[in-house]
Amino acid sequence: MSGTLQGTGVSPGAGFGPARVMSRAAPPPPADVPHGGDAGAERDRALGALERVAADLQERGERAGGEGGKILQAQALMARDPGLSDEVAELVRAGKSAARAVYEGFGRYRSMLAEAGGYLGARVADLDDVRDRALAVLDGRPVADAVPAGAGPYVLVARDLAPADTALLSPDQVAAFVTEEGGPTSHTSIIARAMGVPAVVACPGATAVAPGTPVLADGSSGLVRLAPSAEEVAAARGAAAARRAALAAVTGPGATADGHAVPLLANIGGPQDLADALEHGAEGVGLYRTEFLFLGRAEAPSAEEQEAAYLEVLEAFPGGQVVVRTLDAGADKPLAFLPPPGEEPNPALGERGIRLLRLHPEVMETQLAALARAASRGTAVLRVMAPMVATAEEAALFAAACREAGLPSAGVMIEVPSAALRAADLAAEADFFSVGTNDLAQYAFAADRQVGALAALHDAWQPALLDLVALAAAGAAGRDRPCGVCGEAAGDPVLACVLVGLGAASLSMSAPALPAVRAALARHSREQCRLAARAARAAASPAQARDAAREHLPGLSELGL
Ligand code: PEP
Ligand code: MG
Repeated sequence: MSGTLQGTGVSPGAGFGPARVMSRAAPPPPADVPHGGDAGAERDRALGALERVAADLQERGERAGGEGGKILQAQALMARDPGLSDEVAELVRAGKSAARAVYEGFGRYRSMLAEAGGYLGARVADLDDVRDRALAVLDGRPVADAVPAGAGPYVLVARDLAPADTALLSPDQVAAFVTEEGGPTSHTSIIARAMGVPAVVACPGATAVAPGTPVLADGSSGLVRLAPSAEEVAAARGAAAARRAALAAVTGPGATADGHAVPLLANIGGPQDLADALEHGAEGVGLYRTEFLFLGRAEAPSAEEQEAAYLEVLEAFPGGQVVVRTLDAGADKPLAFLPPPGEEPNPALGERGIRLLRLHPEVMETQLAALARAASRGTAVLRVMAPMVATAEEAALFAAACREAGLPSAGVMIEVPSAALRAADLAAEADFFSVGTNDLAQYAFAADRQVGALAALHDAWQPALLDLVALAAAGAAGRDRPCGVCGEAAGDPVLACVLVGLGAASLSMSAPALPAVRAALARHSREQCRLAARAARAAASPAQARDAAREHLPGLSELGL
């Protein structure tokens, strides 16, 4: 098998190895084979399988940590969903076998959720993965057989990859990921970038590749070569090695070529991500997603437990800055102990983020108090910010709560278009901004961030998104407030230059993205960044914006970016 396939490069570098094509599709359990008669035992078998899967996902999530860990914890919640258990138990009572009940229960549950909209309805791949794991348990097949075993490095090819497949893989095993589906913000992309493994997504024809075919995947251009020549592999490897060397040569704090400082910070989910952040030279933390501490818990962790986790992060960056986000519960980050107060047809547009915290002031107060106590013990500069702030009134409320708790710096995330549009008003209330481009794109384009088919609308190069970032930065500058960026966009080295040109004061990203961003900034002056930003905003499409920006950033190709 030879030829080329074209997808979207989402994690740079060149990966070469034999294709391991992942296929998990087991035939549906037969509909016409009822269980043996003991409905109670059959129900226990079905629910036991779901619990075993949940426990396995939770345990893997704890081991994986970081982005992958968060997603696995969310999947564990799906397996434990009481609605699903009721549905499965009901099907067994009606005579279905445990396997068939699980199969149909997921099917019914999925369409039910899809009709209601909502975050689970949009996470079909994750839901299917949980179902297939439960079916494997019931069949007595090994649960973790989805990812091909064997010595690597191989190129893992799949229709799409579930977080549970990828979170525990190591870069030694996988030379590259190639998937038919997914987009720049899909789980495959986020995890590949976090692992530093090249990845190509949205690549039609990928799963038709014969297993064992030598594959060369270019995670920058999105080109996938089948059975490449030895020269092509050598050239790609040479380019990747040169790129790594060029990136590694740039060290120290983030700054443009003319010395304008741009602190480069890490996005973390908790203390488990600190080693990675430090290894990649993070100057601090720009986004501590504290939900991770609360995921999969029936009750909020105690103030003492929270304080210990916050302190551990603060102590990792003596004298540096650590930006902690208060709980962003709801929608894609559901917390069992903090559900929305009622039925929500569209949880992403419902009671989430600061809206939920307003409904549960005691949860916010405990968190702020734990943060204040941690800050009094560590030497890092702690800044605290609220998620999903939409109005100046919400910003004022949060700032007041922080002051009440004795926290000197209270900021807001800019991830709702209204906040960007009225940035000047919000800047009058908040001490700093941090732009969350993931949600800002979701809300600006009315495109659920968990629907892979809408990936083009989540492209952070969309000129409309760049306009909103510019508005946020200008609003902050008018009040002399810093405006950082902490969405996935900040980890794209080309876009990072544009964001600095738009006025971003700091950039926070998954740790493995730091070296490329540091090197890209170091090659260009602030003025070049501004020109690139202007050119990108003047473009009519994301592709044109990227090309137009690159024309002002000549150092990128020298770095192989
Ligand atoms: C964002 O929305 O861009 C962001 C950084 O927050 P999260 O991805 O956790 O929603
Ligand atoms: Mg967000």
